[in-house]
Amino acid sequence: MKISDYNAEVFNNLNPFHMAKTELAQKKEKIIEIGKILCENGINERVGICLLHNHFNLFDNELLVEQYINSNLIELSPRRDCFDQATYPYMWRVIRSDAGEFVWYPVEFTLIKGDYYLPNNNTLSLIAQSLYVLNLTDVFGISILHREFPPDENTLTLETTDLERRTLSIQVVSKEVLLDDDVSETLWKFFETDNYSISGACERHCYSHCVAHCRTHGSQEPSVPQYPLCHIPE
Ligand SMILES: [Zn+2]
Repeated sequence: MKISDYNAEVFNNLNPFHMAKTELAQKKEKIIEIGKILCENGINERVGICLLHNHFNLFDNELLVEQYINSNLIELSPRRDCFDQATYPYMWRVIRSDAGEFVWYPVEFTLIKGDYYLPNNNTLSLIAQSLYVLNLTDVFGISILHREFPPDENTLTLETTDLERRTLSIQVVSKEVLLDDDVSETLWKFFETDNYSISGACERHCYSHCVAHCRTHGSQEPSVPQYPLCHIPE
């Protein structure tokens, strides 16, 4: 198991959103297996499972970095000025190398250290092995649960995409948006509960709860450009 430096090619090779949604529909029930690992290793409060996808490509010298605009809005956009700053990756995907080694790559970053966290190597290996065995390494990754919202049970966070600005906006919205067909779950937090079986043995169970969603504006893929068409800020 190895933790790699950032590589924009890894980000660009994530499934586009429409493909990720198709994969999710076929494989969602499998994430409970990964959730169990998070619960059994006591990190389910700090690490969730994310649906790997992108909405636009990045140039080699760009990182996708989140910025807090206000208490109700976070924006994620490509940054060229962050390589020399302290950045903290919070979203990761794993790739099995030709030599059979699991390599974790960071794909999204924050500038706020906060209680920055990464599972230990043993846990990362367990998660990688399970994702690989379940044929999920290109579908799901892990995301550090570093954001404090949504603030209550009646709201959720919704990500919308501005392709011209290559910017993702993450806002707190009412749960009513779940009625929209374009919305897809993208991040799950797992909770541990204790239940007793008929034999009286204590078993641990996990259930998933979606804490973030994603939606694209306007026409859906596959018309989404594979390479950025917009102006790149210097
Ligand atoms: Zn998205």
